[in-house]
Amino acid sequence: MSNATQLIHSIPVDPLTGSISVPIYQTSTFVQDAPGEHKGYDYARTNNPTRETLEKITALLEGGERASAFASGLAAIDAVVKLLETGDEILAVDDIYGGAFRLFTHIYAKFGIKVNYTDTTDIANVIDAITPKTKLIWLETPTNPTLKISDIETIAAIAKQNNILLCVDNTFASPVLQQPIKLGADIVIHSATKYLGGHSDLIAGLVVSATQELGDKIKFIQNASGAILSPHDSWLVIRGIETLHLRVNEHSRNALAVAQYLENHPAIDKVFYPGLKSHPNHDIAAKQQKGFGGIVSFTLKNNTEDAARLVVCNTKLFKLAESLGGVKSLLCHPAQMTHKSIPADKRRAAGVADSLVRLSVGLEEVDDLIHDIEQALNKAQTFVAEIKLPAFQ
Ligand SMILES: *Cc1c(COP(=O)(O)O)cnc(C)c1O
Repeated sequence: MSNATQLIHSIPVDPLTGSISVPIYQTSTFVQDAPGEHKGYDYARTNNPTRETLEKITALLEGGERASAFASGLAAIDAVVKLLETGDEILAVDDIYGGAFRLFTHIYAKFGIKVNYTDTTDIANVIDAITPKTKLIWLETPTNPTLKISDIETIAAIAKQNNILLCVDNTFASPVLQQPIKLGADIVIHSATKYLGGHSDLIAGLVVSATQELGDKIKFIQNASGAILSPHDSWLVIRGIETLHLRVNEHSRNALAVAQYLENHPAIDKVFYPGLKSHPNHDIAAKQQKGFGGIVSFTLKNNTEDAARLVVCNTKLFKLAESLGGVKSLLCHPAQMTHKSIPADKRRAAGVADSLVRLSVGLEEVDDLIHDIEQALNKAQTFVAEIKLPAFQ
């Protein structure tokens, strides 16, 4: 059976009524027959049947043993860090999601958890950065927003040898394109706000564990800390997942066409898309992914924040907004938006140039999207001449 068929039919029909849609159990508690005698549910922070269905589907999707659904992607990340103790260290990809950087730097540093950032696309850096205190390796691949690819299988082997947990943020690829647990990762996290939800209408997170034991620890942390996903939002993510294969494959097709267009445009300096042969990690991406995803970033030859601002303010179909992975195309200017909390020197060193623009290529007709970018680039070029910024080309 194909993955898509298996996934669609892993979403159960309600045994009580035959409802083909998963029921939303909007309840706080469950009546018990006698103290401690219940049907597997006692209090809805601990367990809720709608959330549990989402968790089972996600574990299956990622090839893991157990999943827990959280109130946001960051709550999912937070739960994984809570596996650690004071004095432990995290080795993290340098081009990390801005919110994860903020959480590590401004919350966990206070509790004595140190993070070492390195460019994990080079295995030698990973080996060099491991210390006796490293307990967790944190990868995002592809990264946000420069789409760097790290070799999950090789890093998983290094992590195992050193008794270190490997967690992969699989938000950008989605399990349709990449299954890190099958490549040796211990934990996968998602911002289900993005492709899993898929419709830009919720905030949600998931942690998937490779083993029952790790899954139980995460579940304990979740129940103890409380950042659960609501029944209604759990249902929305289930509904999003029903079309995940269809959407992600189409996002990938559209993104490749947009990336190829940008690569030939005279105002563009660099295009970041792992599906392009010119991408430095293209071979690893092709090895570990089934497709290259819906995110494309580019920099302008006029490498200024002002020039990027003109581009992102002049598209019509690509809406200017943070986030990604929805049906509608979005774009953003990381230096002034998603990556604002990262100091400029660190941000630039991680490859996020001042003019970098990130596209979340949606499900519109691709020719319309390309025309939209073209007219925005043309308009930006005219304005640049008027306000005497350095020319685009
Ligand atoms: C959005 C995002 C997160 C954070 O998820 P939220 O649902 O916004 O809390 C984490 N990692 C990546 C790669 C993301 O894009």
